[in-house]
Amino acid sequence: MPYVKEVFEYLKRSSPSQKEFYQAAEEVLESLRPLMIKYPKYRDHKIIERIVEPERQILFRVNWVDDNGEIQVNKGYRIEFNSALGPYKGGLRFHPSVNAGVIKFLGFEQIFKNALTGLQIGGGKGGSDFNPKGKSNNEIMRFCQAFMSELFRHIGANTDVPAGDIGVGAREIGYMFGMYKKLANKYEGVLTGKSLKWGGSLARTEATGYGAVYFAKYMLEDRGETLEGKKCVVSGSGNVSIYTIEKLYHLGATPITCSDSNGMIYDAEGIDLELLKELKEVKRERLTEYIKHRPNAIYTPVEEYPEDCNGVYTVPCYAAFPSATQNELNLNDAKNLLANGCFCVSEGANMPSTLDAVHAFIDAKICYGPGKAANAGGVATSQLEMAQNASMVNWTFEEVDTKLAQIMKSIYVSASATAAEFGEPTNLVLGANIAGFRKVADAMIEQGLV
Ligand code: NDP
Repeated sequence: MPYVKEVFEYLKRSSPSQKEFYQAAEEVLESLRPLMIKYPKYRDHKIIERIVEPERQILFRVNWVDDNGEIQVNKGYRIEFNSALGPYKGGLRFHPSVNAGVIKFLGFEQIFKNALTGLQIGGGKGGSDFNPKGKSNNEIMRFCQAFMSELFRHIGANTDVPAGDIGVGAREIGYMFGMYKKLANKYEGVLTGKSLKWGGSLARTEATGYGAVYFAKYMLEDRGETLEGKKCVVSGSGNVSIYTIEKLYHLGATPITCSDSNGMIYDAEGIDLELLKELKEVKRERLTEYIKHRPNAIYTPVEEYPEDCNGVYTVPCYAAFPSATQNELNLNDAKNLLANGCFCVSEGANMPSTLDAVHAFIDAKICYGPGKAANAGGVATSQLEMAQNASMVNWTFEEVDTKLAQIMKSIYVSASATAAEFGEPTNLVLGANIAGFRKVADAMIEQGLV
C-alpha cells in the first residue's frame, strides 16, 4: 500500500535521525495495512498522518550541581503524544542513551499500549540523558528537583501523569513529587509509582513483571500449554526483571538467568530472588556481586558473549522474557532461541526485539507477546493508582493484583481476537497494533479535528 510507505518516508524527512522512532512506527504502520484497506474512514480522516505527530514536545535544560560543586547540564524531555483517550500517561527514563528519537519511540508505543488496557489514558513519555549510575543520593535528589522545576508547569493530575522507567524508581518519583508539590502548591496524583506511605498503590512495583508473566500464561493456555515446571530466561535485573522472576516462581517455572549492561548470570538451580532483590533494590550493586554469594552460578561478561549475540538468549529455555531495553534481542538471538526450542517470548521491555527478530517469531508461530501488549500491566496499574488517589481509597494487594490479571487477560483476548479477524490468529503484533490503533482513531474521529 503506497500510502503507508509515503507516511513513513515523510517521517524520515520531518524527524531526521530518530532511528528508534522509525523502527516503532514501521512496525505499527505495516500492521495497519489490512485495517486501512477494510475501513477507508481512517484514511479519509488522515489518522495515520496525525497519530505519528506528537500533540506537543517539550525539550528543556536541566542545570544542577554535583557533590564537587561543579555545574552539570542535561537535557530534559516530555513528549505529550496523544490525548484522545485520556490524560497523557507514560514513564520518565533517566539513561545516557536518551535522546529525542528514543523518547519519541517510547511515547508512540505508549499510545497503543495505553489504548489496549481499555482505560482512560493517553500516551506520553519523557526523561533525560542524565546517568544515575554512580551518583550519590544527594546528587539524585538535586537532579530530580532540577528536572521537576521545569516539568511541573506542563503536567497535572488531569493533563499529564508521568511514572518511572529505566533509572526512575520510587526514590526518584519521591524527589520529583516533593518538588512538584512545593512548586504547584497541590497535593495531587500527578505522578504514579509513588511510595506506599504517601499515595502509592500496592502491586504497582510488581505490576509490569507480573503482567508480562500473566500475558505469557494466557498465550500459552490458549495453546494448551503452561509455564509450570519450565525453564525460563529473563534479561535485565531491574524492576521489570525482578518481578518477572518472582511471578515465574509463583507459577512453578524456574527462571535461570538475569543480566545487566555488563554481563549475565546463569544460575541452573534458579535465580536466588531474595539475593537479587537485596543486591539490586537495597544495596544497588552490580551483578558481579551475585556470584560471590552463589558459587555455583556462572557470570559471563558481555565481552565473552558469542559474536553479535546476547548471552541470555543462548541459554536453552521454554520461554524468554526480554526485560532490559530496546533492541537487546536481534535476529541471531531469535534464531538461537528458536533452535533451542523456545516456544514463548513475552516482552517486559519496550521494543526489545529488532524488526527481523519479530518477524522470525511471527513466522515460527510461537507464542510471541510484543511489549506494547505484554508489558502494559505497569501502566494499567498506574491508572489504578490514579483511580485510588482520585477517590481517596486504598485497595489491597490482592484487589490490585486481581484487576491486573483481568486487564492482562482482556489485552490478550483483544489482541488475539483482532489478529483472528484479520486472518492471522497467532500474530499478536498485528492484533495488538490494530486493536490499540482502532480505539485511539475512533476517539480522534469523534472528537473532531483538534
Ligand atoms: P530499571 O532501570 O529498573 O532496570 C533496567 C535493567 O535493564 C537494568 O538491569 C539495566 O542494567 C538493564 N539495561 C538498561 N539499559 C541497558 C542496555 N543498554 N544494555 C543492557 N542492559 C541494559 O528499568 P525497568 O526494569 O523499569 O525497565 C526495563 C524495561 O522495561 C525498559 O525497556 C522499560 O521501558 C520497560 N518498561 C518498564 C515499565 C515499568 O513499570 N518500570 C513499564 C513498561 C515497560 P544496568 O544496571 O547495567 O543499566
